[in-house]
Amino acid sequence: MTTVGVLRETAGRERRVAMTPDGVVRLRRTGVRVLVEAGAGRSAWFDDPAYVEAGADVGSREQVYAESDILVVVRPPDDIAALPAGRTLIGLLDPLGDPGLAETLAAQGVTAISLDLLPRTLSRAQPLDALTSQANVAGYKAALLAAEAYGGFFPMLVTAAGTSRPAQVLVLGAGVAGLQAIATARRLGAQVTGYDVREAAQADIASTGALVLALSDAVQNGSDGYASALTGDEAASQLHSLAQAVPRFDVVITTAKVPGGRSPLLVSAEALDAMRPGSVVLDLGGGNVAGSAPDTRVVTGHGVTVIGAPNLASTVPVAASTAYARNVVAALGALDDDELVSAMTVRPLHDLDKERR
Ligand code: NAD
Repeated sequence: MTTVGVLRETAGRERRVAMTPDGVVRLRRTGVRVLVEAGAGRSAWFDDPAYVEAGADVGSREQVYAESDILVVVRPPDDIAALPAGRTLIGLLDPLGDPGLAETLAAQGVTAISLDLLPRTLSRAQPLDALTSQANVAGYKAALLAAEAYGGFFPMLVTAAGTSRPAQVLVLGAGVAGLQAIATARRLGAQVTGYDVREAAQADIASTGALVLALSDAVQNGSDGYASALTGDEAASQLHSLAQAVPRFDVVITTAKVPGGRSPLLVSAEALDAMRPGSVVLDLGGGNVAGSAPDTRVVTGHGVTVIGAPNLASTVPVAASTAYARNVVAALGALDDDELVSAMTVRPLHDLDKERR
């Protein structure tokens, strides 16, 4: 019988777990054994007895490594050298961000399947789409976090003490996270404007009921649904145009990313300086805002709060783990789908070079 091992996450501040008790029930129905590392779900409020009740065994990390055929994680474990040869590791392994990981795993004889390499546009791939499920959670939390940091109301409130104007919120980047940030800020009552460099995203923004910020420069029509990096001139022109627009807003949430590349800078130091005191800028894309650093909250000299928050899904661990576990169950059920598995298999660069030749 195949054993699926669930490892406790080792990355700092990571509160998600790759499998929930609900997911265990689904896996057990497919005839696999599930072995969960003791305490793996604790940070997401799934305790060991809940896993046992769902039909899993609970054991030590050593036992999970020794007895599992397939190991599931959210992020790469920091004791990757302990992975025995012949095992399969499934997770959001970020091989494009850390090419060295592929070499290490290949040298150890471990097959690595990274959900972030999923060909997302194939409709049968959607149940496995962990990038989407996690970006959705992150976008939701971004709006809440920005609202919490903002000193005013998001909605227009009419009370005996007068009427408050709604907060003006700008969301830069309208992919999965951005659209969820827009929707959540709107549910809170803010007046929301969205912006994206992709042509197709303009209709997505409008469909949420938000206003669309149209800049004359840099509109892309890429066929794969992803933005590509702008040229130096385009990026400079975009940064300049955004610096004119950004100071009109109370709250700016940035979610822009380019697959396999650096997140583009969209809010310059000049734009931050021109914002009103009390404004909030939240950088979810990581690198979208001048001077922002991951997991920090700083207030600039004239009172603009800059929040660096590239790992927000982990701060909503129940929802994020529940969605992720469903993606993992779907991935385990798709291991006989050669096209999907081949696309998600992490290969060292020299192997890819050989395949291309
Ligand atoms: P992402 O996380 O890679 O990027 C976030 C957003 O940043 C994107 O909308 C991108 O266009 C934008 N961006 C990049 N550079 C920018 C710049 N310089 N200025 C402004 N915006 C910039 O994107 P994502 O959320 O993973 O989604 C990417 C695409 O994939 C979208 O088209 C989405 O609809 C699509 N998608 C399709 C499926 C599917 O077909 N099943 C599933 C998920 C996502």
